[in-house]
Amino acid sequence: MTRQRRVLLDVIENSSGHLHASDLVRLAKERDERIDRATVYRTLSLLKRLGLVEELDLLHLDGSEHHYELRDRNSHVHIGCTGCGRILEFSTDLVERLDAQIRQKTRFQVDSIRIEVSALCTECQQRR
Ligand SMILES: [Zn+2]
Ligand SMILES: [Zn+2]
Repeated sequence: MTRQRRVLLDVIENSSGHLHASDLVRLAKERDERIDRATVYRTLSLLKRLGLVEELDLLHLDGSEHHYELRDRNSHVHIGCTGCGRILEFSTDLVERLDAQIRQKTRFQVDSIRIEVSALCTECQQRR
């Protein structure tokens, strides 16, 4: 299990980000043919529980599949273009500030914050 975990984390880390589970299955298989679909899904849910991987729906701009990325990347919000479906990562300290405010005002311990913005990119604005 530990080795499969490492393979999957490595695949996610070396990707451009926001991979689908089906992409992860293909890429993990390339590294170790014994890893199958069930293993990937099981490992993903474990990595989510451990707080290492974040599951995103990214506004479902490209269907119903979820996307995965490492939790420890610099905090960013996702901006999705509703015209062409591209996803932009926007770095901001807003996430940390929101975390601090929630902790301060509610005493809740935040596990994860996901902010997804629906927008129209410059190219798509020009096309209209
Ligand atoms: Zn666009
Ligand atoms: Zn991201």
